[in-house]
Amino acid sequence: MATTEVVKGRLMILKLVAIATVLMLFSACAQDTTPPSQAETETEAAFAQAREKMVEQLIENWGISDPGVIEAMEKVPRHRFVLPEYLDDAYEDTALPIEHGQTISSPSIVATMTEQLRLKPGDRVLEIGTGSGYQAAVLAELTNRVYSVEIIEPLGLKAAALLEELGYGVQAKIDDGYYGWAEYAPFDAIIVTAAPYHIPPPLLSQLKDGGRMVVPVGGPPGFYQTLWLVEKSGDQIKSTNLGPVRFVPLLGER
Ligand code: SAH
Repeated sequence: MATTEVVKGRLMILKLVAIATVLMLFSACAQDTTPPSQAETETEAAFAQAREKMVEQLIENWGISDPGVIEAMEKVPRHRFVLPEYLDDAYEDTALPIEHGQTISSPSIVATMTEQLRLKPGDRVLEIGTGSGYQAAVLAELTNRVYSVEIIEPLGLKAAALLEELGYGVQAKIDDGYYGWAEYAPFDAIIVTAAPYHIPPPLLSQLKDGGRMVVPVGGPPGFYQTLWLVEKSGDQIKSTNLGPVRFVPLLGER
């Protein structure tokens, strides 16, 4: 009898543990599906409105006209890529500081450079300088093959995690982007978001025949560089000067 009581007692404890586990799981799931509060919904609506205004200005002041690029700029939540202290400026047309002395580029430069790449769905595009991940997200709205290289590990890891959270299937790695990403070459398009002193030869060789690269070239840091559109056609390279820009320098020892 005594043993049966013990077994019964144990069964009871097991039952209680099982019920508690189910309850805990249930409350964890319930937390995940909690609808946003009214304040959160209002903030998101305000961001969406600010984003719409930003896009109107990109069209009016910067002549952005590619429907795919316009749609991408309308969709990507830039406020998720800026530091909390700059949330109010998330949809201003300005570059903003991110960690490690780097910057998230201004919406107009992101839109202009993206437009120059003339991306089609399925194109392979390589970005050098993941930074906040914002430019990579814009590219990922246009094609499902986005590869991005960042040299500063914590920045690259943070951006990769955020891109994944937001559902962007970007392949990211920590490395010196001067050397491109040979494993996935050749690329239909390459975008360099930090300024080298010269166009890195490995990037040129990883560009497909008919491919486009946008790259700011020049220095020293803090001064203006020249944004170039480089188009490859057989062994011909056509370079078009797109005007002065200001980027952080391309880092790395070589
Ligand atoms: N595209 C980014 C802009 C980032 S600023 C965005 O949308 O937020 C430029 C980035 O280039 C910085 O994060 C910097 O760390 C990175 N960078 C500098 N030199 C690099 C190199 N050699 N290879 C890869 N990334 C580099």
